Formats: sequence, C-alpha cells, structure tokens
Amino acid sequence: MKIPNVVSIQKYSIHDGDGIRTTVFFKGCLLNCWWCHNPESQNFKPELMYNKEKCAGCFNCAKVCEHNHVDIENNMVINDRVNCKLCGKCLDYCVNNAREIVGKQCSVMDIIKEVEKDSMFYESSYGGITLSGGEVMAQDMEFIVSLLKKLKRKGYNIAIDTCGQAFQKNYEKVLPYVDTFLYDIKLMDNEKHKKYMGKGNELILKNLEYISSQGANIYIRIPVIGGVNDSDKEIEDIINYLKENISVSQINLLPYHDIAASKYERLNMKYKGKEFTVPSKERMEKLKNMFIQKGFSNTKIGG
Ligand code: SF4
Ligand code: SF4
Repeated sequence: MKIPNVVSIQKYSIHDGDGIRTTVFFKGCLLNCWWCHNPESQNFKPELMYNKEKCAGCFNCAKVCEHNHVDIENNMVINDRVNCKLCGKCLDYCVNNAREIVGKQCSVMDIIKEVEKDSMFYESSYGGITLSGGEVMAQDMEFIVSLLKKLKRKGYNIAIDTCGQAFQKNYEKVLPYVDTFLYDIKLMDNEKHKKYMGKGNELILKNLEYISSQGANIYIRIPVIGGVNDSDKEIEDIINYLKENISVSQINLLPYHDIAASKYERLNMKYKGKEFTVPSKERMEKLKNMFIQKGFSNTKIGG
C-alpha cells in the first residue's frame, strides 16, 4: 500500500457537503485547472513553499542549509526547489515562518485519530467527513478503501469531493462506502476543457454517468469562471447534459475568486488565472435561475 501525502485536515468545514465536516485534503491531482484554488495540492509529492511577503531577510535559511540549496542574490532568497531535500531544517531557523513544507504522509490511523476529535459536531449538524484534494480518487485506492471502511464502521457520513479524472474501477471500489459525491463539472466543450484543465472531459463524464447509474447521491459542483464557462451557452450545455444523463440531488454554483494567486508565487508556479473575471452576484443569480427553471430546484450559490 502506498501512503498518500496529505496537505491538511480542515476542521469545521461548512462548504464541503452537508452539516459541519472535517475535510481531508490529499496531495496530487491529474488535472491542471488554470483557476485551481489549491495549487499546493496539484503535485503528488511534498513541496517547499516560500512566502516572500513574510520573509524578514535574516538569511538564516542560507546559513543553515547543509545542502547549499538556498542562495542569496541581490539580498533576495533564491530556493533551489529541484534539489531541496525537504529536510525542514531551514524552517526551524526562519524567524518569520516564511518557509513551509506542504504535504506529509499520514497513515489511516493518523487520519482517523484527527477526524474523531470532532465527532460530536458531525452528529449534531448531520455532517461528517469529506475526502478532497487534490484528487482523492487518484491516490492509492487500497489506502483510500481501507480508510473508508474504518470511517464507515464508525458510522460517519462520508463525502468524496472529486474532479472525476480517475479510473472507473476506483469509483467502483469506493461506491459502497460513500454517502455523497461532490462532483465537479466545468465545461462541456472538450477543446476548451483540454486548454484550461490539461485533459479532455470524456473520462470525467463517463465516470459521472457510471456512478449515477449505480444510484450514487450526487451533488454537482460548478466553479463559475468569468470568461471561461459563465456564458448562457456554456451553462445551458451543462444543464442539458445533466438533465439527459445524470440523477442529481443538488447543484452548487461556485463563483470564481482569485485569492489563491499568492500561493502560486510561494510555490514558484505561474498563475494563469489572471485573465478571468469574478462573476457578479446578479450573474450568479441568473445562472442559478436557469438551473431552477430547468427542474434543478435544489440549486445553490456556494458550497
Ligand atoms: S528544507 Fe532542507 S534542503 Fe531544503 S532548503 Fe531547507 S534546509 Fe535546505
Ligand atoms: S530564514 Fe525565513 S525570514 Fe530568514 S531569510 Fe530565510 S525565508 Fe526569510
């Protein structure tokens, strides 16, 4: 069994399914969405994050790195991320917490112990546990199924937040344990899908149709990105597809925001979302009404 890396375990989450939930963010995803809010969860391996804004310029990091993977040029910190051993020593000497290693292997029991701490909130709010990412369905499935079995045995409500880009056999394996799938649909236009996410939507739609045919409880989540999929045409295409093919319990329209832009800089990644716009409240209401008029009465703005 391969132990996956976890980015974080978020408590009191109210946007990742019903009630109050604890969300486990796994590291690694097979899509590469331009607007991704969690770029630190795209790569399957742990990574060094460096926050230039917080850096106090003490240069302790360069002094203590035994591997010489931090340079100082023109009074600026230059991190050799390719060769960095992720030993964490520089973090201990960083005076302003400007350095962070994101991603850590967690065992099934580590996760269980953490999520159990909040079990009383799940019961009182009809909440539970959400496995998210990154992409949980692209992790080692032996690990994920083992985790799901233990969570289910304890009686927790389980949601899986997925982009759909994973083998169908992975969905077959998790179906018996999952109460709700939070399933992302972004674009029906396959060429645009390839451009903005790095892959076409064939597998994503095939997996969605599969879990729907198996009676899964499905909440469709649509990130609404101004300039990408916020036109009437793009939304109508999604509505028509869902109406014909999928049994949907809830639609969540998630308006784009660009608050993750600074995370890209901390990871030394290029942020390609600059050209997108934030849809207005009026626009979001109009899109919501389009769904309601077509029979999706349980449509909400937000998670
Ligand atoms: S994590 Fe370790 S190897 Fe990487 S820069 Fe810091 S001290 Fe050097
Ligand atoms: S140790 Fe931290 S605060 Fe000091 S120079 Fe390095 S990153 Fe900046």
